[in-house]
Amino acid sequence: MIIELESVFNTEGLKLPFDYELDLSAIQVSGYSPIAQPVRVSGKVENKAGIVNLTGNAQVIYTAPCDRCATEVSKEYNFPLEHTLVVALESGENDAFLEVPNLRLDLDELVEEDVNLALPSKYLCNEECKGLCMSCGKNLNEDQCNCKAPVDPRFAALLDLLDE
Ligand SMILES: [Zn+2]
Ligand SMILES: [Zn+2]
Repeated sequence: MIIELESVFNTEGLKLPFDYELDLSAIQVSGYSPIAQPVRVSGKVENKAGIVNLTGNAQVIYTAPCDRCATEVSKEYNFPLEHTLVVALESGENDAFLEVPNLRLDLDELVEEDVNLALPSKYLCNEECKGLCMSCGKNLNEDQCNCKAPVDPRFAALLDLLDE
């Protein structure tokens, strides 16, 4: 979605609301497409006393395998969209400002960037997830296995090093 910003830059108090669905299924995380469902993007661009702000929300349904037990789970995330729009960046201004030299904003591109930056770097089905047994591969959230004492992950890393 392209937003034409000329009117909002020229009119104090003017609000341009937006509310639409965006396809971000092309985003890949570790070879997986976690955002299969359309992202609900809503918010507004508003001129308040000459400052043009974009505020809003991207509602993402994220579906991916748990990093520990590999069970596929879906979670809903609401990522805030917050940018101050400027026609030209002055020196000293930073990332909080978004330059829109042609007074046209490609909102899809902006939302895609914001969502990409906000995605979880670690994804767990549950903070308490026990993961898989390192010996037999059993999902320990479902049942205890018959293996002996679980291998301490730090010790396992050391064994890997010795193997090499
Ligand atoms: Zn898990
Ligand atoms: Zn086991």
